[in-house]
Amino acid sequence: MKQPQTLKEAIEFFSNPDASFEYVVNLRWNDGAVTCPHCHSEFVSLVKTRRIWNCLKCKKQFSIKTGTIFQDSPIALDKWLCAMWLIANAKNGISSCEIARAIGVTQKTAWFMAHRIRLALNIEASEQLAGEVEADETYIGGKAENMHKAKRERVIRGRGAVGKTAVFGILERKGKLRTKVIQDTSSETLQREIVKNVSAGATIYTDAHRSYENLDPAFVHEVIDHAVAYVNGRIHTNSIENFWSLLKRGLRGTYIHVDVEHLFRYLDEQTFRYDHRKENDATRFVKAVSNIVDKNITYSKLTRQTIYKQLHLPM
Ligand SMILES: [Zn+2]
Repeated sequence: MKQPQTLKEAIEFFSNPDASFEYVVNLRWNDGAVTCPHCHSEFVSLVKTRRIWNCLKCKKQFSIKTGTIFQDSPIALDKWLCAMWLIANAKNGISSCEIARAIGVTQKTAWFMAHRIRLALNIEASEQLAGEVEADETYIGGKAENMHKAKRERVIRGRGAVGKTAVFGILERKGKLRTKVIQDTSSETLQREIVKNVSAGATIYTDAHRSYENLDPAFVHEVIDHAVAYVNGRIHTNSIENFWSLLKRGLRGTYIHVDVEHLFRYLDEQTFRYDHRKENDATRFVKAVSNIVDKNITYSKLTRQTIYKQLHLPM
């Protein structure tokens, strides 16, 4: 199967509807072994002229888009694939306005496409993190984001949640990153995530936040007290903090307004790119396209969530 290596090659290659169809068939179904998304039967027949299959078992029809993030979308595959290329490879993220201009759709359509594409960037974590692992929490949005950590904690403890969302990150220094929007930064919440995501025997590096105290003795826990120093040999949380900078730069510079309810999608997007940062554009793109199945989400479901208050990120 031909694999475009650059955005320019991708645009040219996918502009041929047969090429983009075959490309997605091969990634969606391992080596193109098509099965019915309704009943999983292999007895299917393709109506080539319409690029539609008839299932000989359940008698239903399906297309390449059925049961994927492209479900019911009138947008042609070439536009979907180009938008996926852009999102999978834009280091600081890409706004729906930019996508709209690049592929020739309205901003509203691009926004919806981008949210669906982010579903394909959420790759299920398969194994626990090990070795040297950094864990850290941060706040997105509101005034709390820019406050000094000690002051911020005083303010937040004193007044409860105001215009900020807590995010937790766990990063394997030699490998993967996990991020999650969390309800609070209590020791119960943070330590539960650590136990769930990290294998016993790992060394966990954290700052001196109280919620990390009395961590499960299955881990070696090393603490860097930022009131004293930021690095002490291998004891630091610089890698995860670099990721927070990247995330916040992307959110501020590119997206400006992010709905609280959608924050996890932006996290998935940025985490995907970070996880695959050492790979090339083509490989990241293939990973995303391989993950399009069963991620169907309707427009009404997405827009219903936007009634929640918006996070206004400082410029
Ligand atoms: Zn079927």
